[in-house]
Amino acid sequence: MPTLTGVGIGRGLAIGEVLRMPDPLPEPSDAASQTTPDAEKVRAAGSLAATAADIRLRGGRAGGAAKDVLEAQAFMAEDPTLKDDVDKRIDAGKTAERAVFEAFAAFRDLLVSMGGYMGERATDLNDVSQRVVAHLQGVAAPGVPTPDHPFILVARDLAPADTALLDLSTVLALITSDGGPTSHTAILAREKSIVAVVGAVGALELSDGQTVIVDATTGAVTVDPSDAERAAAETTLADRAAAKDVPVGPGALADGTPVPLLANLGTVDKLDEAVEKGAEGVGLFRTEFLFLDSEKAPTVADQQAKYSALFAAFPGKKVVVRALDAGADKPLSFLNDEPEENPALGLRGLRALRANEPILRDQLTAIASAAAENEADAWVMAPMVSTVEETRYFTRLAKELGVKTAGVMIEVPAAALLADRILADTDFASIGTNDLTQYTLAADRLLGSVASFQDPWHPAVLRLVGEVGKAGAAAGKPVGICGEAAADPLLAVVLVGLGATSLSMSPAALADVRAELARFTLKQAKQFAELALSANSAVEARLAVIDAATPNKTTPTESEK
Ligand code: PEP
Ligand code: MG
Repeated sequence: MPTLTGVGIGRGLAIGEVLRMPDPLPEPSDAASQTTPDAEKVRAAGSLAATAADIRLRGGRAGGAAKDVLEAQAFMAEDPTLKDDVDKRIDAGKTAERAVFEAFAAFRDLLVSMGGYMGERATDLNDVSQRVVAHLQGVAAPGVPTPDHPFILVARDLAPADTALLDLSTVLALITSDGGPTSHTAILAREKSIVAVVGAVGALELSDGQTVIVDATTGAVTVDPSDAERAAAETTLADRAAAKDVPVGPGALADGTPVPLLANLGTVDKLDEAVEKGAEGVGLFRTEFLFLDSEKAPTVADQQAKYSALFAAFPGKKVVVRALDAGADKPLSFLNDEPEENPALGLRGLRALRANEPILRDQLTAIASAAAENEADAWVMAPMVSTVEETRYFTRLAKELGVKTAGVMIEVPAAALLADRILADTDFASIGTNDLTQYTLAADRLLGSVASFQDPWHPAVLRLVGEVGKAGAAAGKPVGICGEAAADPLLAVVLVGLGATSLSMSPAALADVRAELARFTLKQAKQFAELALSANSAVEARLAVIDAATPNKTTPTESEK
């Protein structure tokens, strides 16, 4: 069988034997119900409720992003429109099993016809449907096999409920034939650091017991590898394991150039984890996540208590708090009350705060007071800044209210292009590569159908990052990166080569990035940056740097050290 190719999630590598997900339950028979519609409706309602409760329980156990995904699935089982459809089909003489099967299938077809992100949610519905039918039939819900030996799981696509609860001591890697980079399987695999290749056409032809090498860096699945292929993969694995043993310590390149590694956080619950994983401070504290459910603006006292807990966890360390970034995918009802046609281009970030200045003043006051209380090295930054004038406004206001270090996020191409002038008027810049990529490529970051454009390896994005890096070096001011790009280990090296002076990421990514930085010198990082900048596309940029970074080519010579 030839090598299969899909989309790799992360940079993991695994070798092992395939075990396939068992086949789904057979389609329930279409024979007429032998009982009354009322009795069938009671059965259906009972199983829908029990399934919702079971999924919610799994979510509670899994925590993190899985909890939200499973909560959304539980809502599907409780959806009143779906339930009405089930009842209607029962009234037409169907059994509860058949009515559930048909109603979910109709809804799934609707989502698939919508395509993109909605289409990728279809798998979630299939899973809920199977679970409800299994409950009605009194059989076990279909799920991941649980042998007592390690294996590589192959499936059409995994349901969130399954991905969330994968036993990472036995599942070496995951290969799916369906699902794209924005599917929940991909999102959860990334969060749990599972080696994964999704959307690998032909994966379902693999049989149990077959040996495969799964390489997420290239998205390749080598089937029945030769002895030489196997040996090469084993060597890479051993090298990576050794690199991971790099003790938890400050981030630095191979030549000792320091690259502080900071944490991205959105809650005060994960402070311990960030400290444990060696975060040298916080590079992005997303304050809006604290208040997503609030109808009223939070008080100064309420905010001060939360920021105080944050500063207390990082005594003497830099902690960058971002002013509320409301709008688009994170609306706050007290800041965004007007519906907008294109919210990502609307009154979001600093624009919304400026339109509600008392809320911004309260927040800056709370940050300054919490910082004073803890003698913290507190930095504050504004989201979605697009002009020099906005930079001046925010920096002046923050200082007036007692914040010592104030800066701006560079997320809009206009701000990147004028970074020299922006940095003349503020203390630091932090590049939000998620939004910078969205705005540079004109591709909505929430839309699965344009996900292929959302790639921070794109040379246009990197050129903008380079502009900011140059401006930072000229002004002698820090330039951090706090978008997802900083969590991609090899891209992190490129970003340093472009002038980033610190990297901030979800704590789960810190170890891999720390290990990757330690492999290369600043000179090499700059060479990689040049290679990426001269490519024509994100794919070309990534491949050029991967190629240059392969061990036999990059071992620094004496003159490079
Ligand atoms: C970004 O845009 O890269 C960023 C870090 O901010 P957020 O993801 O919260 O929009
Ligand atoms: Mg952003």
